[in-house]
Amino acid sequence: MSEPFALPEGVSAILTRLRDSGFPAFPAGGCVRDSLLGRRVHDWDVATAALPEQVTALFRRTAATGLKHGTVTVLLGRLAVEVTTFRTEGGYTDGRRPDSVTFVPRLEADLARRDFTVNAMALGPDGQVIDPFGGRDDLRRRIIRCVGDPAARFGEDALRLWRAVRFSAMLGFGIEAATWDAMSACAPLTARLAPERVSAELERILLSGAAARLADVLPLGLLDPLLTAHPTFRLPLETLKTLPRKPETRWAGLAALLRRAGCLADSLAFLRALRLPNRVTYPAGMGAEWALAQPLPGEPVGWRRLCADRGVPEALCAAAAGDALAGGPPRYVPALREVLRPGPCLSVKQLALTGEHLALVGLAGPQIGRAQRRLLEHVLRRPEDNTLDALLSLLETIDSKNR
Ligand code: ATP
Ligand code: MG
Repeated sequence: MSEPFALPEGVSAILTRLRDSGFPAFPAGGCVRDSLLGRRVHDWDVATAALPEQVTALFRRTAATGLKHGTVTVLLGRLAVEVTTFRTEGGYTDGRRPDSVTFVPRLEADLARRDFTVNAMALGPDGQVIDPFGGRDDLRRRIIRCVGDPAARFGEDALRLWRAVRFSAMLGFGIEAATWDAMSACAPLTARLAPERVSAELERILLSGAAARLADVLPLGLLDPLLTAHPTFRLPLETLKTLPRKPETRWAGLAALLRRAGCLADSLAFLRALRLPNRVTYPAGMGAEWALAQPLPGEPVGWRRLCADRGVPEALCAAAAGDALAGGPPRYVPALREVLRPGPCLSVKQLALTGEHLALVGLAGPQIGRAQRRLLEHVLRRPEDNTLDALLSLLETIDSKNR
C-alpha cells in the first residue's frame, strides 16, 4: 500500500542510498501524518540508523544543521532533506531542552520519544506504515494524544503543551481527555519556556486559520506568563480569525486585541516579551497603540497623512489592529492597500520637485524645508498634482502668499 505516499524523487534517492549502504532509513513524523491526511507535505524528514558522520560521508552536498541532535541536511538539487539519526532524549533538567540525546540503533525507540501518536509514525521500504502507538487510529478519531504518559511527556518538555494546541488548531483535531488533563496539570511549566519557542508556536496557531482555538486553551493559563493577570480579561477570540496573514500586521492585531482585553500594561511589552525582532515589534506595537488611541481615517487623504507622519509599516499595523478590534471582515487594511496601490507620494523625498529645484527658483535655508512641507501637504490631499509643472505653479501661489 504505497499508494498514498508520493515521495519526491530526491527523497526516494536519499532513502535508497542510505538503505543500499546498510542503514535502515524511514520518512518519519509530520510527512507521514500529512500524507495519510491527504495534506500537502512540506518537509520530508528522514530518520535513519546512520550516524551523522556516516550520512555526511554518503552524500556530496550536506549541511551540518543540527549535528549535536543528530541532524544533517542533505541537499539534492533544490531539495533539502533533514536526515536525523534515531535518537532518544536524556533528562530535561530545565524543562526546555534535552540535556543530551543518545543515538540508538532502532526506529521504535526514536518513534517513542516523539510527542504525539499522529507524529510518531514512519514509512517502511514497502510503503507500509510503521505505527506502534496507534497514530492512524487517532488520525481517524481526529485527536491529539501523547505518546506514553502525558504528564511525564509534558514534564520533559513543556513546549509540547503549545505543540498540542498548534496541531489541534492546524489539523482541526480535538485533544484526547488524558492528554488534556495532563495539560491542565502541567500548564505552569510553560512559564519556563524560552519566549522565542512559544512565539514560534503562537505564530503558527495564528496562521492556522483556527486561531480561535486559543479560546479553548486560555483557561489553562498558557498565555499567562506573557500577560499581566487580569480578572476581567476577555480576549475577543472570534476576532482572532480575522487577523491578517502577514506577520507584522498579524502581530499588531493581536497586540491590540490583548490590550483591549485589558490584560496588558501595553502592547509593546507583549511583543517584546515574545522577543520578536524590532522590525516587527516597533511598527506593530505603535500601530496597535495608534488604533486604540484614535479613530482610524475614513478617507484616502487621512491614510496618506498617517503614512507620511508615521511610516507605511506603522500605518499598516494600525489598520490591522483596527480590523482586529472591529472584528468581521477586514476593511481598514484593504482601504489602506487601495490607497497605496498607485504608489502615492508620502514624503518630501518623493516630491517631483526637489530641494535643488527650490534653490534654483531662489529659495534658501529654512524656506526650502517650509516649502517642501507645504507642497507635501498639498500632494497628500491631491496626489495627482505631484508633477514638476504642477508643483512649480503651486509654488508660485505659495510664494506670493507667504515666504
Ligand atoms: P509541521 O508540518 O508543522 O512541520 P511536524 O510534525 O513536521 O509538523 P516539527 O515541529 O517539524 O513538526 O517536528 C518534526 C517531528 O519531530 C514531529 O512530527 C515529532 O515527531 C518530533 N518532534 C518535534 N518536536 C518535538 C518535541 N518537542 N517533543 C517530541 N517530539 C517532537
Ligand atoms: Mg516539520
